[in-house]
Amino acid sequence: MTPGLRTVAPGAESPVARRMQKAFLGAWVFAICAWGVFSGAKLAPAQARTTGDLREKLVLANKILAMEGLVGPFGHVSVRSANEGKFLVAKHESADQVNVADLVEVETGVTPESAKERGLYLEIFIHSSIYEELPEVQAVVHTHSPYAVALGTLRVSDNKILPTTNAGANLGNFIPIFQAVGLIRDPEKGIRVARALQGQNGVLLRGHGTVVVGRTLEQAVLRAIYLELEARTQMASRQAGEPIFYRPDESDLFKDTRAVEHAWDYYVAKVRRHKE
Ligand SMILES: [Zn+2]
Repeated sequence: MTPGLRTVAPGAESPVARRMQKAFLGAWVFAICAWGVFSGAKLAPAQARTTGDLREKLVLANKILAMEGLVGPFGHVSVRSANEGKFLVAKHESADQVNVADLVEVETGVTPESAKERGLYLEIFIHSSIYEELPEVQAVVHTHSPYAVALGTLRVSDNKILPTTNAGANLGNFIPIFQAVGLIRDPEKGIRVARALQGQNGVLLRGHGTVVVGRTLEQAVLRAIYLELEARTQMASRQAGEPIFYRPDESDLFKDTRAVEHAWDYYVAKVRRHKE
């Protein structure tokens, strides 16, 4: 017999074949789970779980975004309030320090004068204008996340970045770049940002940061995280070669997913461990 080889009775499986079968099965289970997580194929809609205290959830959202390095001294998150024409947001405070007592309810028609008087974020109009302009949006995140800022400085055709990953496709068929630099300090510029979304879930503000929207708070927070992941991956891919971008029919698989439960629970558990 050849050294290293074992004879196998006809019909019996060799250990190698069994290992290959297991590996193949494992790969399929992983692929199906991953597809489920990103596409929402068999998961309950996130909305079904969003009956908890919105204020507590907004505090968690602040802490998760801070933990992931997406917001620091700048950047903020808000959610539409149960009271019509209003939204909840932290008062001027670093995201990792936000508590329920720091949250305030702001009307979507807030003016620069009123915002200044009440000590709200300078760029509160990113939130107020998007809620005014886009009724379907329930939550807004503004970050100054570093890789996304880098991605937004690229010269690309039509000012549109195409996604290269499942995570990035959560942002839509493309990620527009809003070219006007400077802060969003008045409602008019806020409306221009809202319109710059062009029906997608996120926009890059050149040299500045990102704005991401969601139909739930969890969805908006995860999309902000996914945008930074896409940016980090895409910047590496562009350095290494020529990335293959997702076609619209490919990004459509992830663009409207509400499969956020598993990922949200992961970040909630992580932020609770982080605090210990
Ligand atoms: Zn900003």
